[in-house]
Amino acid sequence: MLPLMNNLIQIVGLQDLLDPIDSSFKDRNFEEVYDILYKKQEYADIRQEIEQSVYSYFANFLIPKDPTIYDYILLSLRDKDLIATFNWDPLLVQAYRRNVNYIDLPHLVFLHGNVTVGYCKDDRFKGNIFSACPHCGKKLAPTPLLYPITEKNYAEDEFISAEWKTLQNYLENAFMITIFGYSAPSSDYEAKKMLKKAWGDLKDRKMEEIEIIDIKTEEELRNLWKDFIFSHHWKSHLNFFESWIARHPRRTYEAYFSQVFEAKFIPDNPVPKSNDLDILRNWFADLIQVELIHKEKMFNDLSPVLIELYEIIEDYAKNIKASIPKSFQQIPHIIDLIQAKKYRELPSLLRFINPLELESWGNQMGISEKQRITKIFSDLGFPDLEDKNDKDNIKSTRL
Ligand SMILES: [Zn+2]
Repeated sequence: MLPLMNNLIQIVGLQDLLDPIDSSFKDRNFEEVYDILYKKQEYADIRQEIEQSVYSYFANFLIPKDPTIYDYILLSLRDKDLIATFNWDPLLVQAYRRNVNYIDLPHLVFLHGNVTVGYCKDDRFKGNIFSACPHCGKKLAPTPLLYPITEKNYAEDEFISAEWKTLQNYLENAFMITIFGYSAPSSDYEAKKMLKKAWGDLKDRKMEEIEIIDIKTEEELRNLWKDFIFSHHWKSHLNFFESWIARHPRRTYEAYFSQVFEAKFIPDNPVPKSNDLDILRNWFADLIQVELIHKEKMFNDLSPVLIELYEIIEDYAKNIKASIPKSFQQIPHIIDLIQAKKYRELPSLLRFINPLELESWGNQMGISEKQRITKIFSDLGFPDLEDKNDKDNIKSTRL
């Protein structure tokens, strides 16, 4: 079972480590105990042992064969969506891995690290902990697990801070947010502060919708999330299957928009409960078919634009006798995939293309070429060359 902060010490079996320090520790909340240890240098070794035990405890989790709540959530969202999790355990990632070959899934960020996610510092790449970085071939390093201390420093670790940055970028542009099973404990003061900063001022968020899946009363939730919710634009649900996501899977925003803003009623299309993952996935087939037709059109429009971009870069590279910047070397492969109608990998490959890399490389490029390239980038939906934001995001292909 997944431990909670109040039973973690017993479930993970940390009593023997803690008893010599204080025999009352074993009955206390892990968060409080860790905070005490954290403040004293003399406990540094014990802390390290605790961290190792916790890491291996979580790393050994294996997702059950039947569909889990993680499968439902992943399958019900699209690749424009983001799941941000505080969980260290590998269940979400394991659910991701077993579904990613069937369907386009949302992006994942790990705000407190994760036992099954590895990271390459040199290439700012995250992926499966057991795999190698596709850029340099080195084995990915484990991501740090952020522990429950009152003053978390999210800026200290490069991976963690980039994950937060991604969440903030998504939040700034988000219209619907679902908060699921996050109780915003007081030790997460920093986390709440950062979320609030990204969400911005309530008066600028009059139209956005927040839903909270939690067993707390509405009163408690309103109080807990008062900095985030604008008047009546929020709802609480007792479980996932009552949420907008589950009632309108993969079309959540579209269904909300047409009902609330266009006053067009749309009947619910609830995700079915099933104990068979294949049956569950098959249920999504019609929705995915429509997405595929849309993608086919989008990528077919994109293809000539990419070809033009690559030709300009190739010509220029020949001129200055330099090799094509790393992130642009993928373009022929992307074009091949579009022609072969293999769209699944494309969004992540397109994210590899980094306009900034071209900026420094193409300094001597002529004005007209630069203008053409800037236009191509905006057609591709990239921020313009001046926008530095994009470099903060960590690239990842499959986890
Ligand atoms: Zn690397």
